[in-house]
Amino acid sequence: MPAAAKPATLAKQLTLSPPSETGEPAEGRENRDKKNKKGECPRALAAGPSGEKFASALLAWFDVHGRKHLPWQQQITPYRVWISEIMLQQTQVTTVIPYYERFMQRFPDVRALAAAADDEVLHLWTGLGYYARARNLLKAARTIVAEHGGEFPETLDAVQALPGIGRSTAGAILAISKSQRHPILDGNVKRVLTRCFGIEGFPGETAIERELWSIADACTPAQRVAHYTQAIMDLGATVCVRSRPLCVVCPMHEFCVARREGMQAVLPTPKPRKERPERTAYAAILQRADGAVLLERRPPVGIWGGLWTFPQFDDRVDAVTWMERHTGDSSLATLALPPYSHSFTHFDLNLQPLLVRDAREQPAVADAERYCWYDVKQPAKIGLAKPAVDLIRGLAERVE
Ligand code: SF4
Repeated sequence: MPAAAKPATLAKQLTLSPPSETGEPAEGRENRDKKNKKGECPRALAAGPSGEKFASALLAWFDVHGRKHLPWQQQITPYRVWISEIMLQQTQVTTVIPYYERFMQRFPDVRALAAAADDEVLHLWTGLGYYARARNLLKAARTIVAEHGGEFPETLDAVQALPGIGRSTAGAILAISKSQRHPILDGNVKRVLTRCFGIEGFPGETAIERELWSIADACTPAQRVAHYTQAIMDLGATVCVRSRPLCVVCPMHEFCVARREGMQAVLPTPKPRKERPERTAYAAILQRADGAVLLERRPPVGIWGGLWTFPQFDDRVDAVTWMERHTGDSSLATLALPPYSHSFTHFDLNLQPLLVRDAREQPAVADAERYCWYDVKQPAKIGLAKPAVDLIRGLAERVE
């Protein structure tokens, strides 16, 4: 047990003073302040339980409190676990359930998914966000059919080689569906481990991540690995939550370093902050007299890749010129709708929608691959980018 053995020894060496008025033990607080001022290695705080103790406490908790009736926990197959794991990335369980059930009904196995049209998959994904996940699912399904005869691969390397599947997701799929012993380290697990073992430093840094993988490995049991994997994800999602973790009911309560030293609010260490750049763009909304709006398909890669949205321009003049060209009207009355904001991982987008009502249809717009008139009363089954969904809803509300 390479990484956790050392913390376990350190745990015995810690003698804790009574808590201060803030609930934080005085000695732990002083030690931490001293270490932080001197800039010493934060590893000295790594004083959690042994891997065995961690796993057995977690499994005992799971037997009583773990979630066992979620749709992907029934009729378990690698395919079903894979789809759930991808949907659950950055998305809450309650949001995922209806999407998962619709998806499984339409694509019950990997062959059905591999044969699907891109647009239909993106349509079923509309609203879940992070559309690269859906595009990668399709690519991976087609790879499984082309290179693995339609059978989900059963080795960690082969699963990890599929598009959109990292080490943690591959480990979770094989642990849950095949009871193979692999550690996992998604965002929830990182939070549990950094707190329980007192690991300071941003978990995205290579050295910290390596240490966390080592602890995750030390904690993963050989027996009941499927339950353990479900359990650690559950604990992070329901008890060791981001703010105000429920330490009182946590199975790690007794030996968690963060709980003992009052560090729940500062672990995991947040990413060093950078200024988020802002971008402004203009959405050109042409609306026909019958209410249909003109949408453009985004290029297959990049933001909202392959999804339909309103043509977007960095410059207002370009947006108006484009609308004039596509309506054959050089004296258009454009109406500026309320601005729309959207946050991406690396920047904030301020979108200014420009509306032209009663737009005339031009033959130039006959490129069905790139443009389509979208009937808001009888919506086509296509994948819409989030701004298109929200702006179309806003247009409907304006009419009502
Ligand atoms: S005791 Fe609190 S901080 Fe520690 S693992 Fe449990 S919920 Fe998280």
